[in-house]
Amino acid sequence: MIGLVSVTAAGAAAAARLVAAWPDSTRCYDGPTADAIRRAWDECDQLVCFLATGATVRLVAPLLADKRSDPAVVCVDEAGRHAVALLGGHRDGTAAGCGANRLAEQVAGVLGASPVITTATDVTGVPGLDTLGLPVEGAVTAVSRALLDQEPVQVQVDVAWPLPALLGTAVQPDQSKPDQPRHRIVVTDRLLPADPHTVLLRPPSLVVGMGASRGVSADEVEQLIGAALVQAGLSVSSVGALATVHDKADEVGLVTLADRLGLPLSTFPASRLASVTVPNPSAAPLAAVGTPSVAEAAALVAAGADDLLVPKSKSAMATVAVARRAPRGRLTLVGLGPGARDLLAPRAIAELRSASVVIGLDQYLDQIRDLLRPGTQVLASGLGDEEARAQEAVTTARSGRSVALVGSGDAGVYAMASPALEFAGDDIDIVGIPGITANLAASALLGAPLGHDHAVVSLSDLHTPWEAIEARVRAVAVGDFVVTFYNPRSLNRRQQLPLALDILRDHRPPTTPVGVVREATRADEQVLLTTLADLDVEVVDMRSVVIVGSTNTRAVAGRMVTPRGYRWMS
Ligand code: SAH
Repeated sequence: MIGLVSVTAAGAAAAARLVAAWPDSTRCYDGPTADAIRRAWDECDQLVCFLATGATVRLVAPLLADKRSDPAVVCVDEAGRHAVALLGGHRDGTAAGCGANRLAEQVAGVLGASPVITTATDVTGVPGLDTLGLPVEGAVTAVSRALLDQEPVQVQVDVAWPLPALLGTAVQPDQSKPDQPRHRIVVTDRLLPADPHTVLLRPPSLVVGMGASRGVSADEVEQLIGAALVQAGLSVSSVGALATVHDKADEVGLVTLADRLGLPLSTFPASRLASVTVPNPSAAPLAAVGTPSVAEAAALVAAGADDLLVPKSKSAMATVAVARRAPRGRLTLVGLGPGARDLLAPRAIAELRSASVVIGLDQYLDQIRDLLRPGTQVLASGLGDEEARAQEAVTTARSGRSVALVGSGDAGVYAMASPALEFAGDDIDIVGIPGITANLAASALLGAPLGHDHAVVSLSDLHTPWEAIEARVRAVAVGDFVVTFYNPRSLNRRQQLPLALDILRDHRPPTTPVGVVREATRADEQVLLTTLADLDVEVVDMRSVVIVGSTNTRAVAGRMVTPRGYRWMS
């Protein structure tokens, strides 16, 4: 029973809407507020109070007894804009109705309000099972509810697939323990007996090879595929691709079927299929199209597999065979931006939330840890072992998982994307999400120093010999580029910046503007505009960038401006 406590007319109207939606499970309490809440508290498992959170806290405080037995409490504001889960967010809901988090969502749904939930896992979002991009079957409601109520749920992965982290409360199946959680999520292409506590996620792991005589109907092939899969205990929902020989690329029945199922139809030359060893070669296709196997060979080639799951079966005019393809892992290179959360791209956030493994330097991971789905595996590295971590990211993606490799600014700028891509083959998908670099963040803080041609030089001689860096700084000086120095100065590297500035001083007047930006867009941000003559290198450290203007750059009203037009100085 849900007790509804309202005081104002607006509250009573909103309560009436909940009564209309749930006539059998709601009861209204009125009269003096403290008294109404006390009665509702005693008689109901859940309370919705149309009151300010502060007022509600004061009124329920004397009633609090035990987290396990106290009712769940949701507050709705006067304007009906927010449904706030106040108390008992995750209470086990089996007998006494769900916890406040779920109740807040339900109330918000009826009132058109936004649910406000502050318990950590819900804020990071228990994954909606239907949002993972795979077909879902089975007990979706029961398992979603178990997830929302933070009951443990078993996750069983029969077929690896690049999925988001499934859940915070996931446990691996362990047959040796008698007390396994009832609820299960199984990632599988197999048919399993229906179970009221099990959800099946269907990865598109099966590839069906098809052979056909001219004029075959889509229905005949579809029935043959269905029968072959059922007999082998495999789900048609996991068929991810169809394949055949080039000669059948325009066979109407096959093309129609691919359309109907919404699946790609790949075709291969007969010579390619003929080179594959299959269990059941035959003379007929050899005579007709020049390969002893179409269905079996096409399934194996399209899946990149050595063995078939289902050997050839035949109808009057068609043959089919099934193979399982290896999962194709995904590696996303995610730029986190300079620091401020609202300079992190929404697309980067979406990618972080769809990864099951996130890899990067610990200081950057701390920047985004709260965004990750519960259950996400986080592999942090210290400065220095970036290359090993980059390789680990590739290896993990190769095993079929969904991996995000993160870096501050842009992950491709003096960061881990390069070592990762040097190491990655074409066997994984790579996605790059650009980030706002320190250079751009600093530029925006200083004014418009990058308004004309500019260069970026890292002064770190960790990976590059100093002579090469010096030669570049000379070229930049001669070319009159605005220059941004990354990694300008550390405890152990103090000489590089003065040397680089000396080179520039030979080519630019002492009045040339210089900007130093430390911790751009972070809590300790410092912005300094000075000149080549006055720069005190002591203010520069590893968390800074230094932007030196060209001979055209000016300080205007305390801002650094490089004009757009060429005013070439000889
Ligand atoms: N991938 C990053 C650069 C990493 S190299 C990017 O795209 O910006 C590390 C160097 O970047 C630091 O030594 C410092 O020079 C610079 N840097 C990174 N973040 C910064 C920030 N918020 N403010 C100032 N400099 C920063």
